[in-house]
Amino acid sequence: MTKIALVTGASRGIGRACAIALARDGFLVWANYRSNQEAADSLKAEIEAAGGACKLVQFDVGDADAVAAALAPLEDETPASVLVNNAGITRDGLFLTMPREAWESVIQTNLGSFYNVTKPVLKGMFKAKYGRIVTMSSISGQQGNKGQANYAASKAGLIAATKSVAQEYARKNILANVVCPGFIATDMVEGLPEKEISKMIPQRRFGKPEEVAEVVAFLSSERCGYVNGAVINVNGGLFTG
Ligand code: NAP
Repeated sequence: MTKIALVTGASRGIGRACAIALARDGFLVWANYRSNQEAADSLKAEIEAAGGACKLVQFDVGDADAVAAALAPLEDETPASVLVNNAGITRDGLFLTMPREAWESVIQTNLGSFYNVTKPVLKGMFKAKYGRIVTMSSISGQQGNKGQANYAASKAGLIAATKSVAQEYARKNILANVVCPGFIATDMVEGLPEKEISKMIPQRRFGKPEEVAEVVAFLSSERCGYVNGAVINVNGGLFTG
């Protein structure tokens, strides 16, 4: 039987590394992206060159109608057994001067997407009595971060939502966990003073997307049998709470 994994925000960065790791592990990957067709095409080519299978699925995770329209026909055919809620954005700025639009777009994309995407996929998992859901939060969602009230709130919300779903569907063998990356070298952190920030990180460097993807690959697998509702740090020791 084809094992299917849906990865949101798979065209670049951490999501891309997750898609590649899951394809390596035998999943047909439904690779979601928002707009970067070139990056999505190159992901598909990379997975197929390595002998894996990938289907590109374009939608904005924050747009409930678009998500439903894209996922309904796929889920009707063969439901996904793995969901990686990875897509996310930042719109940083101090809270006092943060435009409402920056607040709302980040909450809608990062947290609203949990509702939009998880619900239809969970329905299929519920019927199949099996599923693995991995959601990408952030160290900002654990600690807060200056200039990221919107982002931190969205990422903290993902932790609480995941812990709730983990308790609701555990008896159906649907396990839901959160990964909290620290600083990972992707487009999202481009422009940050990496040298300066690395001095604060016990491992003295930013992480690689592949180092997050390996954790996601385990949490997405049947080898993950008794980890549920967990928050796993992948941050080089920056925060240990
Ligand atoms: P990235 O390099 O900016 O890549 C973002 C990916 O998400 C792209 O594939 C992008 O698609 C997709 N995306 C963005 N908005 C979307 C939307 N509305 N609908 C569908 N796809 C969308 O980001 P990243 O660093 O890999 O981050 C991935 C996740 O890890 C995010 O949730 C982020 O908050 C979290 N995280 C990252 C870090 C870090 O240091 N990098 C740390 C903690 C947590 P397009 O290519 O089409 O634009």
